[in-house]
Amino acid sequence: MPYWNPEIETMDQKGLRQIQNEKLVKIVKYVYDCSPFYKKRFDEFGVKPEDIKSIDDIGKLPFTFKKDLRDTYPTGMFCVPDKEIVRFHASSGTTGKPTVVGYTQNDLDAWAESLARGMTSINLGTDDKIQVSYGYGLFTGGLGIHYGSEKIGAATLPISSGNTERQITLMKDLDVTAICCTPSYFSYLIEAADHMGCSIKDQTKLRVGVFGAEPWSESLRKRIEERSGIKAYDVFGTSELSGPLFTECTEQKGMHIWADLFLFEILDPETNEPVKDGEVGEMVVTTLAKEALPLIRYRVGDLASVETAVCPCGRTHPRLMRLKGRSDDMIIVRGLNVFPGQVEYVLVKFPEVSSHFMIVIDRVGELDSMTVQVELIDMASDKLDDYYKLKSKIEHELQSILNLHAEVEFVSRGTIPRSEGKAKRVTDNRKYQD
Ligand code: ADP
Ligand code: ZN
Repeated sequence: MPYWNPEIETMDQKGLRQIQNEKLVKIVKYVYDCSPFYKKRFDEFGVKPEDIKSIDDIGKLPFTFKKDLRDTYPTGMFCVPDKEIVRFHASSGTTGKPTVVGYTQNDLDAWAESLARGMTSINLGTDDKIQVSYGYGLFTGGLGIHYGSEKIGAATLPISSGNTERQITLMKDLDVTAICCTPSYFSYLIEAADHMGCSIKDQTKLRVGVFGAEPWSESLRKRIEERSGIKAYDVFGTSELSGPLFTECTEQKGMHIWADLFLFEILDPETNEPVKDGEVGEMVVTTLAKEALPLIRYRVGDLASVETAVCPCGRTHPRLMRLKGRSDDMIIVRGLNVFPGQVEYVLVKFPEVSSHFMIVIDRVGELDSMTVQVELIDMASDKLDDYYKLKSKIEHELQSILNLHAEVEFVSRGTIPRSEGKAKRVTDNRKYQD
């Protein structure tokens, strides 16, 4: 079983805790001394750095929010002078005004280290050719994975997203073994390759995919693995914490959160108390080693669960289980909470439809209506009756997961916009009506 940094990755949990205690005390003092923002926030909250003696005191610290980053736009929360910054990125702005993040050289090194550990844990290394099909540029996906890939000595193909035919041609011609992109883009690549008469499964050397930046389900993983013959791994990150950071290991039992770099809390969003191990709550993260933009108890806005038992791979660090969605991804339809991931989970069970879909919410009179547009792919039948049967089967499954009726509408292949990055899953027409 290969490790990138065996001493840290397999350190006993007591030792890890010790490291966290020391780093937390240090980072709290650091932000208080270096950032007027944090000094003010701590003072208002009535907490002094000396009050924090170990990670057991974390609850004494105030939270930080995405709004704080926006209010202090662009660099008001940075803890180092400009001359120490060596890179900027900006969030993709999925949920509002983009936020700017900055890195010192040590920050970039720690980021690449985090990914080097993860990539090694899925058996990637010097023998691999890694196609980085996340967007390069201000989005952290491309460059983030790029430096991780170079660090482990893999041959890195910085193709970025888009230009789909070229992606497939180069994958084939260069004998690429691993690809990193969003799961929705890879689903599209499988489809586009088929159109070009190239089977990723039979005609390429691709064996590993590192997919993330958006929520996806176990059933989509299964479908991707079956259709492309690769092992599909989850990767999580967010620009505020650096970018893509944590991947699953070959056990596929959650993404290892490197505890020497980050302290995760999973809190009940109502009470702000920690939930039990393995229970879903809101992810709150404290960076333990970042210099340019450390974050204290940052409310990422994602709903997640963490398991702390040692992984069968031997790594002792906690595991972030598959994300349920971000709290602001949730749509409320007739008073019920709906996550696009639930819809994906249902659709992928039906081989007759593609994994591309669009949820359309309308308001008819006083009532919300939800339609799920899906594309038919493997429907051999020409009997109208079979289409109705399939439609009502899917509607029935959706009803049992969502507890509400959603109308399924079949649309022609290629109608749902394909995304090269994060997929857009919802069209909410309600906000335009009074
Ligand atoms: P933005 O917040 O503007 O979309 P980011 O690119 O930083 O910018 O997005 C990070 C967010 O993407 C995370 O907070 C999470 O909601 C989502 N995300 C990233 N990776 C995953 C993943 N593997 N599973 C589910 N959601 C993910
Ligand atoms: Zn593991």
